[in-house]
Amino acid sequence: MSGRKDYGVYIHIPFCESKCMYCDFYSTDKKGGLTQNYIRAVAKEISDLSTKVAGRKAASIFIGGGTPSLLSQSMAADLIDACAKNLSLADGAEITLEANPESLTLRKTSGYIKAGINRISIGIQSLDDKSLKTLGRIHTARKAISAVESAREAGFDNISVDMIFGLPGQPVRMWLDELSRTVALGVDHISCYQLTPEKGTKLGRIVENGSMELPPDTIEFFDSTEKFLKTAGYGHYEISNYARKGRECVHNIGYWEYRDYLGAGSAAHGMVNGLRWANVRDPARYVSRINAGGQGALRTETLTDEMKSMERLMLGLRLKRGIQMDGLEITSGMQSMIEQGMLKLGKRSIRATAKGWRVLDSVLAAI
Ligand code: SF4
Repeated sequence: MSGRKDYGVYIHIPFCESKCMYCDFYSTDKKGGLTQNYIRAVAKEISDLSTKVAGRKAASIFIGGGTPSLLSQSMAADLIDACAKNLSLADGAEITLEANPESLTLRKTSGYIKAGINRISIGIQSLDDKSLKTLGRIHTARKAISAVESAREAGFDNISVDMIFGLPGQPVRMWLDELSRTVALGVDHISCYQLTPEKGTKLGRIVENGSMELPPDTIEFFDSTEKFLKTAGYGHYEISNYARKGRECVHNIGYWEYRDYLGAGSAAHGMVNGLRWANVRDPARYVSRINAGGQGALRTETLTDEMKSMERLMLGLRLKRGIQMDGLEITSGMQSMIEQGMLKLGKRSIRATAKGWRVLDSVLAAI
């Protein structure tokens, strides 16, 4: 483990307006399920979980989904209040809400600031209407731009956006043009994800049956994104994430550094003191379990030292700076990657080299 005692809090809001074709997160388009009952159940679960982290500080809260921007201001405030009342929040704790452009207005973003949210992460994904349609998104490029502008106007000084590259027939220059317009919006943090046909998604099915073809090689996207965003003032600190100095995501760095996190809400996961849990996925079932005095967790797992070491390595190598060795043993797979110039061993740390980072999936598979 990293040895750090602070932890993160993840709250899952599993409701969406509609299902995007590439999405493999648990979410339901029955947004009528997002009721005060759901919020009360999550608040109760946070209170129940608080004993697991007694005496420790929460460095971040991340309200993710799903589409958390379906929350009203008062629902967001109730969730943050539940954390503030039951947990000990670090001074200046990062409090993020994930948002989709179609549900963001100036009124909403102003309300979220009043509720205590201090970072917003907007899933704009693309600034090209045709690409947005291909992805099954229900917003337009114009709406994405106005969502970012509303967040800024409301007073958010820490805005992140999610973007997707590697769409069918998308040339690198078109992606860079979208990135350039994203940078022009003055955002503080950009996550760039490759479109991936996950099993069980609509995208996975249509790629498998040959109705859609994705670019076979995305190294060029990776290299040109890094070069472009570096010139624009964004440091590449994690394999998919770029930030202006001081705007790196505290919450997500916690995952990559393998720090503990409380997970609340249906389909949330948590990990504290070597115990990992996964909550029941269906929101109605989750609410009934909590209301009946039970736990949200459906499954728990005690992590062995070997599992912890391997997971810590896999996650930590996603960070450009790598991770502290802290008792990690060099396996033969790691040694081979070091010899091939893919990994670099420092005095007390290990990281991927520039060469290894470009093909990180293969490096991770090899160790
Ligand atoms: S909005 Fe996000 S969570 Fe909801 S279906 Fe689309 S990608 Fe998945």
